[in-house]
Amino acid sequence: MLYQQRPTWAEISLTALKHNYLTIKNHLTAGAQLMAVVKADAYGHGAVECSRALESIGADWFGVALVEEGVELRRAGIVRPIFCLGGFWRGQAENVVKHDLTVAIFRLDQAEELDAKARETGRIANFHLKVDTGMGRLGMRLDEVADFARSLEPFHHLKLDGVMTHFADADGDDPAYTEAQMARYDEAVRILRDLSFDSSWRHLANSAGIHAYPQSHDNLARAGATLYGLSRDVLSPKLEPFDLRPVMSLHSRIVMLKTVPAGTPLGYGCAFTTKRESRIATIPIGYADGLRRAHSNNGRALLRGSFAPIVGRVSMDLTIIDVTDAPNVEVGDEVILIGEQDGLRITAEDLAEQVGTISYEIVTGISARVPRVHANS
Ligand SMILES: *Cc1c(COP(=O)(O)O)cnc(C)c1O
Repeated sequence: MLYQQRPTWAEISLTALKHNYLTIKNHLTAGAQLMAVVKADAYGHGAVECSRALESIGADWFGVALVEEGVELRRAGIVRPIFCLGGFWRGQAENVVKHDLTVAIFRLDQAEELDAKARETGRIANFHLKVDTGMGRLGMRLDEVADFARSLEPFHHLKLDGVMTHFADADGDDPAYTEAQMARYDEAVRILRDLSFDSSWRHLANSAGIHAYPQSHDNLARAGATLYGLSRDVLSPKLEPFDLRPVMSLHSRIVMLKTVPAGTPLGYGCAFTTKRESRIATIPIGYADGLRRAHSNNGRALLRGSFAPIVGRVSMDLTIIDVTDAPNVEVGDEVILIGEQDGLRITAEDLAEQVGTISYEIVTGISARVPRVHANS
């Protein structure tokens, strides 16, 4: 077999992605819209391709972290509303207006800059007010909301078109914190209503909130992780999970195969020594690809219908696996690091557990060196 490039790739199932979007949407209370959160290159899945696939099935909204990410989607032809979850930086208001992005605002100077840029082009810029109800990160505190709203008076090219907040603990065991956040959110909406601001869009829920707090769906909800089929370390384990399919799988092929006697040290630092005569395979993927070094002697791959442990240190470009127990292994064989084969599976959640992180960090950490292959299967 001949390969034009190193045979290490991430396959992205657009069919699974679309299935997940529709599954989550089906769980929303009637009338609520679903924002597909495609920040950070769609959690490493390819924002343009994923957004196009989702737009083709009628996705309501797209959510990005940065203005740059929103601009990328507009340039790729995405026409549905795009929401910038993280607001915008000074100097970016021009692009916000030009590319018709809807931004979160949490400081008055942002409103001022956006109004000025919208005025220059004779447009009205929509924004959503981000309220901090308990995350303690971005967002205006409840006691500042009324003053902020009154200060909007001179800005004639702005429309406060939404109010949002973000949950800190929607997958946690105790509902008290999330319930308090919802109560503070309701209070913010009431304060704005009393000042005659009737926001078109009200959104609170992330994946975990959508799952555990149906009363938080309001008329818009924002799903990221679940859209990509991440579930076990995303959703509350106390409730039935949604029927989600993993979207990303990670593949490579054997580039070197050898039989070594018992007592052979392998890799940097000789961190593993064979205990028996072993078949040892090298695969062209390493920590520069996002296969974390913490998987050294701590992880496994799938090939020929069986698991093969990672042995020795994961290095920058290469990883060694012990294939002694797999049948008929040959150079060129496909090896799966994330994915399913013959009924066996390795999930991003499994990798996360092995290295002490969450599946979000695994999929967003698969580096740009790994080509994404988008498949309609
Ligand atoms: C990233 C993000 C989301 C999506 O969160 P998931 O847990 O991936 O569903 C929703 N809202 C905001 C404000 C975010 O930053």
